[in-house]
Amino acid sequence: MLSRSIDCVKEMRPSRKGGHSLLVALGIVLKGAGAAMALVTMLCPVAFGQERQGGEAAGGSQLRSYELVNGRWFDGREFQEATFYTSDGRLTKTKPAVVDERIDLKKGFVVPPFGEAHNHNVEGPWNLDAVVARYLHDGVFYVKNPNSIREFTAQIATRINTPAGIDVVFANAGLTSSGGHPVLLYEHVLREFRYRAVIGEVPAGWFNDRGYVVIDREADIQNKWSSIVAGKPDLFKIFLVHSEEIERHRDAGGAHVRKGLDPGLVPGIVARAHRAGLRVSAHVETAADFRLALSAGVDEIAHVPGWFLELDDQDSRMMLTEADARFAAQVGVIVTTTTVAMKPAEGGHGQHAPPHDPHGAHSQGDHAFSMDSMVWQRAKAAQRHNIGLLHRHGVKLAIGSDHAETSLAEALHLHELGIFDNLTLLKLWCEDTPRSIFPDRKIGSLKEGYEASFLVVRDNPLERFEAVTQIDFRMKQGHNVTEGKGEPWMH
Ligand SMILES: [Zn+2]
Repeated sequence: MLSRSIDCVKEMRPSRKGGHSLLVALGIVLKGAGAAMALVTMLCPVAFGQERQGGEAAGGSQLRSYELVNGRWFDGREFQEATFYTSDGRLTKTKPAVVDERIDLKKGFVVPPFGEAHNHNVEGPWNLDAVVARYLHDGVFYVKNPNSIREFTAQIATRINTPAGIDVVFANAGLTSSGGHPVLLYEHVLREFRYRAVIGEVPAGWFNDRGYVVIDREADIQNKWSSIVAGKPDLFKIFLVHSEEIERHRDAGGAHVRKGLDPGLVPGIVARAHRAGLRVSAHVETAADFRLALSAGVDEIAHVPGWFLELDDQDSRMMLTEADARFAAQVGVIVTTTTVAMKPAEGGHGQHAPPHDPHGAHSQGDHAFSMDSMVWQRAKAAQRHNIGLLHRHGVKLAIGSDHAETSLAEALHLHELGIFDNLTLLKLWCEDTPRSIFPDRKIGSLKEGYEASFLVVRDNPLERFEAVTQIDFRMKQGHNVTEGKGEPWMH
């Protein structure tokens, strides 16, 4: 039963108040393990309550240093047998003066942790533990929430971005026009079906300046800018929706139609955000939105056109051209895949009818929670065309699901679409996506001096991509996070 397991892994993590240590982690994959603690104590009797002999890690917190043996480490191309050590939460090949513990990785395949470049589910205190446990379970340690509610984020701020938890960046409320997306979504769909259960009844308009910021003219930007930047967003979100129909949108005034920001305002907004040192991410739906985002100089595009189609949409409007892809590669924009965002029946909202649906939706009105299954086939063809085209031109891509539980669903769906070989897909998910979320950190590689964060998967994901679902061991910044709160995956 334990032949596949990772050896005896314990970690003494000081409690917040100091004093006694705690056995917090077990590196054994147990199915239906009722007596997990007893088993670990039995397997590793000496370490329980053992005092640490090493020095202090940076910042004063005590971190054990590990010797990691019998792993096959991903070097960006293939897996190589190696021994690494952890020292102050970093990887090193030089043996530290004190090694607290040796961990046998049992010939497992060691990869950097995965990223989720687009999701809204790390949001508030009401379900945070379950959401974090799911991310840790799936090996997804880095998450971007590209439209969030600042006051909810403040309620969970101390519980995320910790060494042993997941790291998340937030955009706060994105910019749109009166009646544009996602106004209707927040005020008429999410208010009732998502938020009533967790924050109670709030009046119509409550999400204005919380879930979205309305910008109709230059003066609105002037007036609202200081409060936007006061919220210290990690990035800046703008909504571009069917911008090829600008005349019709202008005629609609403040009525709810499928629209986003007035295209004429977009370059100025992007430039202003850049002057404030903020990266800009654009929601797009059509190829015209994509072009507008590129020409305005955004840093990231949060979807690939074709991710969301309605019955009467023309597929041709979703198709990117060679010139679009060349331009995208040239300017270095990062495009997030989100192919499962509106997938019927799984990954999206199809399986979670309101009010049980815990996630947001990005469409409007009647189509808020899933895409018609016939339309989905068309959407898939457009996505495959567009992502393949972008990839062939060397455009930077990031993996994000938008609405799935984690980006695992998106990675598996991309695998199913057959656009990438296993090596490319793995690198996208464990190298490019994490770095797109935290560009300044030493993550996404297993090298000297990089953060000691990694996953050990049982089989070789280059041979069989689905191997990524079988994670036997997880470490984040020198902390064993194989066990999570409640560890729902162990039952
Ligand atoms: Zn989204």
